Amino acid sequence: MKVPLLDLKPQYHSLKKELDEAVLKVSESQYFIMGPELARMEREMEQFLGCKHAIGVSSGTDALLLALMAIDIQPDDEVIMPTFSFFATAGVVARLNAKPVLVDCDPLTFNIDVNQIEKNITSKTKAIMPVHLFGQSADMQPIMDLAKKHNLIVIEDGAQAISAVYKDGKPVGTIGHIGCYSFFPSKNLGCFGDGGLVVTNDDDLAEKLIIKRVHGAKPKYYHKVLGGNFRLDTLQAAVISVKLPHLNSWSDARRRNAELYTKLFIDAKLSEVPGKTQFDQNNMVLLPKAIYKPDEVSESMRNYHIFNQYVIRVEKRDELREFLTKNEIATEIYYPVPFHQQECFNYLSYKNGDFPVSEEVAGTCLAVPIYPELSDEQIHFVVDKISEFINQNK
Ligand SMILES: *Cc1c(COP(=O)(O)O)cnc(C)c1O
Repeated sequence: MKVPLLDLKPQYHSLKKELDEAVLKVSESQYFIMGPELARMEREMEQFLGCKHAIGVSSGTDALLLALMAIDIQPDDEVIMPTFSFFATAGVVARLNAKPVLVDCDPLTFNIDVNQIEKNITSKTKAIMPVHLFGQSADMQPIMDLAKKHNLIVIEDGAQAISAVYKDGKPVGTIGHIGCYSFFPSKNLGCFGDGGLVVTNDDDLAEKLIIKRVHGAKPKYYHKVLGGNFRLDTLQAAVISVKLPHLNSWSDARRRNAELYTKLFIDAKLSEVPGKTQFDQNNMVLLPKAIYKPDEVSESMRNYHIFNQYVIRVEKRDELREFLTKNEIATEIYYPVPFHQQECFNYLSYKNGDFPVSEEVAGTCLAVPIYPELSDEQIHFVVDKISEFINQNK
């Protein structure tokens, strides 16, 4: 049985008529840059996320870059972020000649360890950039408290987490000062190419984001400030408008798949419960945990994990991955190298061993297929094969 990591075709076919119509309509109009579809999608996003301003941009990376430009990040300003994330989080800060200041991750959620932020705050710190990795909210309350205490700006990297909800019931991206999302095709809400979104509840920041999206021009050809080309294509906005009403049902399907994986790993005696962080003979596969599930906290407190990825940890990760590949099960390593061990960040002078949790996670993590249209049989097959490998290699 073949199990791809992600297959976008079933989703496309389920909405083919509406998507094709939307694309054709843009072709007929020959209006390609921003266009009326963009404004429509932005208003729909404001409704959906419950925020004041949603601004479509060219990619998730550009969303982060634009956010940093809007808060006027200067060379040598420091931005605190987790060392374990997709490259873009640190890349955008370094491109502006500001300094990524790295923090280890929490072994339970893989998100920034909030207990290690404050000791990294200096007089140069300008912002904190939490990442909602794999579709689960970072622990935002302590981050917002620290930001308030030290007068810092919070830019949320929600590229993998649009529609994920923090335990206080707020969608991620709308908690900090600016939230950033990606419409890259492999995210939960993907367009037909590159795209992204920036959101804020602050009118002044929104104005800056909108002007800097078009080279800092206001009016056209008059530039008081610097910006860039961070525009979203009309076509991409039209595609997002068609897909948005289906996002919650896709996330629910991903959550169901995650629950089935968790149950099957426990039934196969590969793990005791989700959320263990140490390997032992009862926990040969460490399972991801959606913390603050409704039954664990009061009803008003919830955490809605949208499982952009279901990431397990295993000790013989590379051998397991090879075994699964031979059995036509695709997997991916998100992410094999934390920022502090990336060559391009040698100049930051971090050492191996500086962030032991992230290093351990990077060496053992494996994302298994989780996309909404995956069948139960495919999930059973994945767990059976992992079980076979682990029982052979005890
Ligand atoms: C995907 C991703 C980005 C970048 O988004 P693009 O649209 O690919 O530019 C940034 N941060 C994280 C955590 C991501 O997963």
